Amino acid sequence: TIIVFGSINIDLVATAPRLPIAGETLLGESFLQTPGGKGANQAVALAKLEIPTQMIGRVGADNFGIELIKNLQNSGVKTDNILIDKNVSSGIAVITVDKKGENHIIVIPGANGQVNQEDINRLHRLLPQATAVLLQLEIPIETVVAAAQAAKNANITVILDPAPAQSHLPDELYPLIDIITPNEIEASQLVGFPVNGEETAAKAAKILLQKGVKCAVIKLGSKGVYCASAEEAFFIPAFPVHAVDTVAAGDAFNGGLAAALFHKLPLHQAVVWGAAAGALATTKLGAQSSLPDKMTLEKFLG
Ligand code: ADP
Repeated sequence: TIIVFGSINIDLVATAPRLPIAGETLLGESFLQTPGGKGANQAVALAKLEIPTQMIGRVGADNFGIELIKNLQNSGVKTDNILIDKNVSSGIAVITVDKKGENHIIVIPGANGQVNQEDINRLHRLLPQATAVLLQLEIPIETVVAAAQAAKNANITVILDPAPAQSHLPDELYPLIDIITPNEIEASQLVGFPVNGEETAAKAAKILLQKGVKCAVIKLGSKGVYCASAEEAFFIPAFPVHAVDTVAAGDAFNGGLAAALFHKLPLHQAVVWGAAAGALATTKLGAQSSLPDKMTLEKFLG
């Protein structure tokens, strides 16, 4: 089993001809409610690739929470370790989008902000059957550190997606990470200089390795991926596709990478799987709806 320990969100997306100004009420055009959260997205990415996947996290005691759990179940994710937190709302992103695609986003962490030691206790119970734990940064950072520590103690692979971007991570977190997977923005923030291609990614990876991670995989969008560990370093160009929407490309990448490692493929091949899954996700609109299934990925890889 792979465990995804992280965020579960609902995105409420309203479109309007333009964004409203302060105090204004504006007539909009459409409304869409769609499941998200980097944790849930990565869990769905894995389940669609037919990897046994357990999600650990929290939703609120509201209708969104029930729907979010159902959505994960329908995608094949095991949800019996998701806690329904009676004291808060589900994690919500309220998004307004205008004609040009400009947006305003308010994120309410809600239940995601409450993930704590209690959830780590559930993680401990699942670790004996697990091969990897996937983490992101949409739950409290001290809980991320505790989850990484628990997995490390159990000798289980820790994959951290340091998203959303942060300029500082606790020093003690780095040595607990087997694979860190920042995109260009996240890598830039972590190392303090712009990362925008193979050369700068190599410099950034070196710093991340020095901080204690075993492997740095830097996602360079349409340019591809750079990967470095103590043993090897390589660059993989992006698969040429017609990209229409890059939302969740990074989550698809992490799903593909972890799925390949679950099948005991070598690191290089795992990065190829990640890049393929990321590329496929850009060819479709939406977050979870754009994540490729096993057959699609296998066909694409040839
Ligand atoms: P994030 O979604 O976290 O910002 P990226 O945009 O870097 O991450 O995308 C993750 C991975 O998905 C990339 O490293 C690449 O392999 C693949 N990818 C992203 N955009 C494209 C694209 N336009 N064409 C082909 N592959 C892409």
